Amino acid sequence: MLPVIDGYWDRGDYPLHLVRRLGEADLLRDGLALEGFAPMSKMAAGLVNMEISRGDGSIGTIIAVQGGLAMRSIALCGSEEQKRKWLPALAKGEEYGAFALTEPTHGSDSVALETTATPTAGGVLLNGEKKWIGNGSVGGVTVVWARAEDGQVHGYLVPQDSAGYTATVIEGKVSLRAIWQAHIRLENVFVPAENVLPGANSFKDTSRVLLATRLGLRGPLWVMPLPATRRPCSTRRSASSSAGPWPPPKSFRND
Ligand SMILES: Cc1cc2nc3c(=O)[nH]c(=O)nc-3n(C[C@H](O)[C@H](O)[C@H](O)COP(=O)(O)OP(=O)(O)OC[C@H]3O[C@@H](n4cnc5c(N)ncnc54)[C@H](O)[C@@H]3O)c2cc1C
Repeated sequence: MLPVIDGYWDRGDYPLHLVRRLGEADLLRDGLALEGFAPMSKMAAGLVNMEISRGDGSIGTIIAVQGGLAMRSIALCGSEEQKRKWLPALAKGEEYGAFALTEPTHGSDSVALETTATPTAGGVLLNGEKKWIGNGSVGGVTVVWARAEDGQVHGYLVPQDSAGYTATVIEGKVSLRAIWQAHIRLENVFVPAENVLPGANSFKDTSRVLLATRLGLRGPLWVMPLPATRRPCSTRRSASSSAGPWPPPKSFRND
């Protein structure tokens, strides 16, 4: 990451190949327990994200979005079949995962979201808009949160090549420049019944995912204010920097 990330940040480009590398190194899971994968404690997952984010906050955000929010939505709210289909591929970085909750007019108050899910033969139709969605435009699967006819918020798995799904990369960011967030428009997007998350039946379920992911998201947040996130830290030796030298002195490390 460190040798290449500067260029991606400067260009506002997204090093998608690093998602695959994170998956190969099994660093993409945000500590989520998954059959066939080594156990990882919450503490270890938080430290992984913190260390990655010391190199670049955008890359830590990838872990939080894909491993934390998208995978955890499926792990906590998905059917066994959905888990089998999506989780190993997302963990290995073979698929990209997004979590679409925020809307142009509902951020902090996301509980008031306006995207709708209307029943139709064999599934539902989604209509609405989502904004600031990490990984929302890279050709993966998006977990879309929408309000159904019962008035409650439900979760839907939407492949990004679905008809009616359009995503525009948000440009001109001053931070986290090496990951793309998308503005998504959903126009009569058909979601078959097998892509409805059976365990996502109210905003309380959305909140379960958000709460469980908070630890991962704190990785980038802990270190983002530090100057180290702008440039690879390998070149930094400033005694006054709160980020400290990179790599950290042996006394701060486990090895
Ligand atoms: C880089 C980036 C990545 C993101 N990735 C995702 C993603 O992958 N998926 C997703 O769904 N969303 C994502 N988001 C959206 C993010 O969750 C929202 O930005 C966040 O919820 C805040 O919403 P908002 O931007 O609309 O700000 P607002 O809700 O408009 O808040 C603006 C300011 O007002 C304050 N404020 C708001 N309400 C109150 C209140 N009642 N009382 C006092 N102060 C208040 C807030 O603290 C904030 O300082 C991302 C955002 C960014 C910037």
